Amino acid sequence: MKRGVKIMLLAGLAGIVFSFLACNDTIKNEKATDMNSNEEDLDFIFPKGNLGPKELFTGNAYNIGLVDIDDVYTTAVGNVYFEPGARSNWHTHPSGQILVITDGVGYHQIEGQPIQVIKKGDVIKCPPNTKHWHGASPDTGLQQLYIVPNTEKGIVAWMEAVTDMQYNNINQ
Ligand code: MN
Repeated sequence: MKRGVKIMLLAGLAGIVFSFLACNDTIKNEKATDMNSNEEDLDFIFPKGNLGPKELFTGNAYNIGLVDIDDVYTTAVGNVYFEPGARSNWHTHPSGQILVITDGVGYHQIEGQPIQVIKKGDVIKCPPNTKHWHGASPDTGLQQLYIVPNTEKGIVAWMEAVTDMQYNNINQ
């Protein structure tokens, strides 16, 4: 097997495992007060969740599943907290994705388009099979609720990391 294919398969597998773990997380009695005192001053409506794997995220991103997928509800709902500077790899969703930003400031970019600044109160729709990434701004973290419909078609297909050059291309 070629090395590139192997890496892609590994990254895909890690993504599936991560999604699975995230979606099966029960909401624990963690409270915002349990967090480190040096945590930035963002609202934590939901528990922080699990640190995303380095293969899929640059910096620290924490994911918690809020709605389990089953035969009735085929929509994945969860929360991701991106620390300042953290972002996802490039990826696609077979049925698209809706992001509801509940606090902080972040970036969302569809391939070939400028970076879009997103902040508390914004709702972003990313179309099906459209290559994109999302994450925090360099100085302020981001709290995003994600809604992935029609998961019977799949949840996410992971791709390469967003480079620093791509991430910092905000003012050009
Ligand atoms: Mn996405």
